[in-house]
Amino acid sequence: MSGSEQTYFQKGFNLKAQVRPVLAQSYHSKVVDRLKELGYAARAGEVGVKLAREFGFCYGVDRAVEYAYEARERFPDRRIFLSGEIIHNPEVNGRIEALGIRILPDHRRPEDRYAGVEATDVVILPAFGVPVGELQHLRSKGCVLVDTTCGSVLNVWKNVHRYARDGFTSVIHGKHYHEETKATASQALTHPGGHYLCVKDLPEAEVVCEFIRGNVPAADLLQRFREAASPGFDPERDLQRIGLANQTTMLMTESLEIQERLRRAVRDRWGEAALPERFRAFDTICSATQDRQDAVLKMLEEGGLDVMVVIGGHNSSNTQALARICAPRLPTYHISGADRIQGAAIRHRPVGAHEETATEAWLPAGPVTVGLTAGASTPNNVVGEVVERILALRGRTTDELTAA
Ligand code: SF4
Repeated sequence: MSGSEQTYFQKGFNLKAQVRPVLAQSYHSKVVDRLKELGYAARAGEVGVKLAREFGFCYGVDRAVEYAYEARERFPDRRIFLSGEIIHNPEVNGRIEALGIRILPDHRRPEDRYAGVEATDVVILPAFGVPVGELQHLRSKGCVLVDTTCGSVLNVWKNVHRYARDGFTSVIHGKHYHEETKATASQALTHPGGHYLCVKDLPEAEVVCEFIRGNVPAADLLQRFREAASPGFDPERDLQRIGLANQTTMLMTESLEIQERLRRAVRDRWGEAALPERFRAFDTICSATQDRQDAVLKMLEEGGLDVMVVIGGHNSSNTQALARICAPRLPTYHISGADRIQGAAIRHRPVGAHEETATEAWLPAGPVTVGLTAGASTPNNVVGEVVERILALRGRTTDELTAA
């Protein structure tokens, strides 16, 4: 490689035309097209299916997957690696691996994760981004980097960066072990004295609120958040001024509630007048996540559904958020793909559970309408296969679908 050769790519390779046919063949679905033509609601015999108006691949995932295919096209003779899964979907990851792109599992130290990567190799960074230390390490190797970090994730980083610059600790609504949250948290450390604390849900946020009010000892807080706080985190010092951020794929209503509770706690401790200098918040849920959550809520409100099937990887946060919206209202089955519908049983992961479970006779007898949505990392072909499987349970095919 010559010294002047470009090694950092963030905008793709202008090879859309070349990769489009294979992308269409891999991820497109005629069944989904048909459902859209029929107004997102259709029926075959006694089985109705209704699709949320926004579902599946988001703009960030679309772009990341396309760049991975473009990278293969652009560097046919080089070894290509991917920092972790490109997105949380087993089928898509499998197809990417079939292109000869090797997924490097997570490791505590970048030196270990990228030990086998050489200057002549190509490394693709996923849509969730990678922590600052990993990027620096990769840059020092001199390999080609294809950075697919989503613009909405970059926007969160910008806010976290600003908080750190202005002396605010970032309180991140997110899972501290999720790739995106790890990358976002690392941004807080790019300024001297910068800190972060990750809270994954309302009960955790409540512990932080009660610490701020003086009702929880610092030692208890540290114990609870030992894996989720920045190194050297001192609750007394580092929760004096806080800025809120989120993993982009969390449940919007929960993020807003966490924001509001923390705002109240800061107000209770220091008074209303102190809020501007002690509390900041930005809504960093991405618009694609928001649109999918809004669409499924609207569909539920319209009524007429008997069960909900939510499709997406079990480790996909935004899919979990969709399932959490549906579960209190209807029997909800979060499945990773069509193969989870096995005869009259469905293998699904209940909200909050860590394992799949099988439910028999999940599809009620007689006329039934199934609501469907899919997380941002689920391609249309998977959605189409699920529809086929559901219809087949009643001996119907997608060719029989007519407007509901
Ligand atoms: S879910 Fe949002 S932030 Fe994540 S890749 Fe998609 S568009 Fe980007």
